[in-house]
Amino acid sequence: MPSTEEELDRKTFLYNLLVPVMNKYVEGLDEGRGMYLLFVKPEITTASGLVARPVLTSYYKSGHFRQRPDSPYTRYTSPNEAILCPDSAQSMYAQLLCGLARRGEVLRVGAVFASAFLRAVKFLEGHWRALCDDIRAGRVDARVTDPACREAVARVVAHPVPALADAIAAECAAGSWQGIVRRLWPRTKYIDVIVTGSMAQYIPLLEFYGDGLPLVSTMYASSESYFGINLRPLDKPEDVAYTLLPNMCYYEFIKVEKDSEEVREGKVVNLIDVEVGGYYELVVTTFTGLYRYRVGDILQVSGFHNAAPQFRFVHRRNVVLSVDTDKTSEDDLLRAVTAAKRLLAPLGGAILSEYTAYADTTSIPGHYVLFWELTPPLPSHDDAAVARIMASCCAAVEAGLDAVYRRCRSRDRSVGPLEIRVVSPGAFDALMDLCVSHGSSVNQYKTSRCIKHPDAIAVLEARVVGRFFSDGVPHWEPFKVEANHAGANANADGASAS
Ligand code: AMP
Repeated sequence: MPSTEEELDRKTFLYNLLVPVMNKYVEGLDEGRGMYLLFVKPEITTASGLVARPVLTSYYKSGHFRQRPDSPYTRYTSPNEAILCPDSAQSMYAQLLCGLARRGEVLRVGAVFASAFLRAVKFLEGHWRALCDDIRAGRVDARVTDPACREAVARVVAHPVPALADAIAAECAAGSWQGIVRRLWPRTKYIDVIVTGSMAQYIPLLEFYGDGLPLVSTMYASSESYFGINLRPLDKPEDVAYTLLPNMCYYEFIKVEKDSEEVREGKVVNLIDVEVGGYYELVVTTFTGLYRYRVGDILQVSGFHNAAPQFRFVHRRNVVLSVDTDKTSEDDLLRAVTAAKRLLAPLGGAILSEYTAYADTTSIPGHYVLFWELTPPLPSHDDAAVARIMASCCAAVEAGLDAVYRRCRSRDRSVGPLEIRVVSPGAFDALMDLCVSHGSSVNQYKTSRCIKHPDAIAVLEARVVGRFFSDGVPHWEPFKVEANHAGANANADGASAS
């Protein structure tokens, strides 16, 4: 995505607008800090020599963020140096340390997406003892080696505070982690993370840790352009609608049938012509040079704010699996599975007769699960060979997925090892029976490459005969731009050149 200096002004404008909106609904946000876990990702150089990096990395590295005017509303617990630390594990440790050390000041907690916030909670689960030791001793653990980050964090934890360390340790050690966010940061008024779209899968876990804290999705944005804000931030996640800001880009909408991907022939309408209840695919013409560009999102008009239409995010076109910032389409999955299934040959010439997938986010990080039905079924002897071959199939699927997936796995560790669950013969017939009993036509039935309904997952789950995990971390190359997969107009890395 091309990016310009001027574009940063527009982003800052949108961020600034979030403040008065939140103030309308939540009082006293100027009496403390926000604990936001924000991260930068590595830069790459394009063939033409331009730097490319994820859009948020560009923003955090810019003066717009680093030298933002001091205001009680944009005071964070994390020093800029901790956010800008290129090593994500050090950055996470440093930011949590500052968030805990400034516990009494924290009024809101968050991250950009729900997945990142939950990763932080998981990290805390594994590191709270070391974090408490640092607070108790007034020092920074040796694992934080980045000089700028270390120095900035050392200023935050300059003095030993044993009572604070004991209080935090008592909460962390107290058995269940239900409500841990509320307990560790008792003044917190809400959790600020995007929980619409594919992030809705994380709502139950956030509710568990937040124990009643409102989940607030403040904005809707992309690498191509930022789009809109949520004017009623305390609405329940399922009711959230975004009002598109007309100064961000030029919007057009392709009418689509319900939430299907069937696009009604050539019907493109302007922002002022959308109808309440209608489903549309978003098309933008941006200040930085994209012309009538299909972002890939399907939105539904839920109402109006004055004359401005408001949109519910329905889903992303063509995405079947997503755990973090990865977006895997049916085609991506097919390509990866096709390459991997060749490795099955030593298993008595087994072929893959059916497969489907879902994103398992019951544990953090979430991971992709593929159900595979093999013909002939897995041999019952030679378990070690079966395990080795199936693990290599898992790794081969991962190697065949796109650069963002592989980055999430190898660098960010925001997606866990891919799992293949081999099911017994007839499992997919049972799945079809279930779908038919729910109204699918037998003639037109096609196995869905992605299943979400708990009943469908349960049918396959009951027939699992073997579970195998990827035994390798897929290769990801930080210094090279990889070609996008054909047909996907989303960028390879959420990256924008600047
Ligand atoms: P990227 O350009 O890779 O950062 O991804 C941008 C995409 O993330 C958007 O086009 C949406 O599909 C998704 N997204 C961003 N904000 C939201 C939101 N508030 N709710 C649901 N999906 C979102």
